[in-house]
Amino acid sequence: MPNSYDVVVIGSGTGGYVAAIRCAQLGKRVAVVEKQKALGGTCLIWGCIPTKALLEHAHALKVIRNAKEWGVTLPAASPAIDMNQVHSRKDRIVTGLTKGVEFLFKKNKIDWIKGTARLAGNGKVEIVEGEKQTLDAKEIIVATGSYARSVPGIEIDHTRIITSDDAIGLKDVPKSLVIMGSGAVGVEFASIYRRFGSDVTIIELLPKLVPVEDDAISSELEKSFKKQGIKALTGTKVTKAAATASGVDVEAQTPDGSTQTLTADLLLVATGRGPVTTGLGAEDAGIAMDRGYIKVDEMYRTSVPNVSAIGDVITLSTGTPHPQLAHVSSAEGILVAERIAGQEVRPINYDHVPSCTYCDPEIGSVGLTEAEARQKGYDVRIGSFPFGVLGRAKMAGELEGFVKIVAEKKYDEVLGVHMIGSRSTELVAEAVLALRLECTVEELIKTIHAHPTFSEAIGEAAHATHGAAIHL
Ligand SMILES: Cc1cc2nc3c(=O)[nH]c(=O)nc-3n(C[C@H](O)[C@H](O)[C@H](O)COP(=O)(O)OP(=O)(O)OC[C@H]3O[C@@H](n4cnc5c(N)ncnc54)[C@H](O)[C@@H]3O)c2cc1C
Repeated sequence: MPNSYDVVVIGSGTGGYVAAIRCAQLGKRVAVVEKQKALGGTCLIWGCIPTKALLEHAHALKVIRNAKEWGVTLPAASPAIDMNQVHSRKDRIVTGLTKGVEFLFKKNKIDWIKGTARLAGNGKVEIVEGEKQTLDAKEIIVATGSYARSVPGIEIDHTRIITSDDAIGLKDVPKSLVIMGSGAVGVEFASIYRRFGSDVTIIELLPKLVPVEDDAISSELEKSFKKQGIKALTGTKVTKAAATASGVDVEAQTPDGSTQTLTADLLLVATGRGPVTTGLGAEDAGIAMDRGYIKVDEMYRTSVPNVSAIGDVITLSTGTPHPQLAHVSSAEGILVAERIAGQEVRPINYDHVPSCTYCDPEIGSVGLTEAEARQKGYDVRIGSFPFGVLGRAKMAGELEGFVKIVAEKKYDEVLGVHMIGSRSTELVAEAVLALRLECTVEELIKTIHAHPTFSEAIGEAAHATHGAAIHL
């Protein structure tokens, strides 16, 4: 039966495509339904990859602007950014990666069904647009992801009031940009467009930038943004936004209750993402939902047998907050594939998920913040070490930031590691392993960190947690 599969995956994002490959590796006949023209989903086409490509351009511009410091003589007085070249390089990277997923599908004999899928019940998936047909599946994995959503009263017009989908492709650098929301997406675009030359203002409803991070990280970022000329209005609520002929008027209520109107070329709404379930037929198929998200247990089973869901589209019935991250969706995809194949699997520990924000300076964190650890009643001890003291940081000219360790006194266990500064998104990997292995601070101290590296800050922060940093 050509339309009959062991597993049909709906959506080819980092959740769906990874689940499909793992299922195929485990001997399953697999099809993936994807409605976009390319494979890879939000991460490859609209999210992680294009934004980080733009950030690398912004970083290159920063280094070139400091050419004198590096002893490099440039002919032009003031280096500028060429957005055509930026987009063509970024698009080349995106295309290379999406083609890479296509190659992996061929290698693993996974069928890509081009079209929009709908759950038709009883193990059937109907392709309602594109290559119309009905697929039979022993198991279905829903991985339909998320979309950029706005807040009530703020209407996205994709011209003046835009989302990240629009912001990755701007042909010209806006003279001025207001960003609503200071989560990862908001602060990354602030870093990109400030370096490219925009006048950037971030408006954040909560009292601090990157609200989910440790307070020390938020303060350091706010300090650095101020130095770079990025204005941050925290504790401030956007109440209205109206596109005009030449830009956008943004009305905001400041913490003292007064109203301020900002005028800018563009307003980027970066207030979060909602689940993609419209037209999927999940409710008709009897799947329990929660505010549009698909409800799953800790093995990603929906309320309907043989239908699983992973990635940005899910909410956990355990009540654990579910981070919308590419590596989380992939880990869930692998777990589901292995469960379907009959392997023994264990629930994911969401306390050990690294969180990386690629703004400048970048942030890497895992585990409990100091405030969370205290709230949970731990007898907390803290150690911090600044990158700027390190030889490697001085050589790189990247002096900002620090590593902060949150530990508890009784067993000396590391509860959380938070870092801001160059290479933090890479360095956090060591901290993730430390938490996974329930490492003590003593073990981090005894771990030899190579010299000269940025990673020495982790060893030194561990020393500092025991009150004895060597180089401070
Ligand atoms: C600007 C931005 C930057 C980001 N940066 C990072 C980052 O640096 N690191 C990180 O970890 N995460 C990042 N993310 C988040 C990350 O992209 C998502 O968490 C991840 O893509 C979720 O994967 P997913 O497989 O659940 O869904 P998605 O990647 O959204 O994939 C879902 C796929 O399903 C398809 N689909 C939906 N409905 C149907 C249907 N009915 N039929 C057929 N196909 C369908 C969609 O077309 C899509 O391709 C970023 C997100 C954004 C927006």
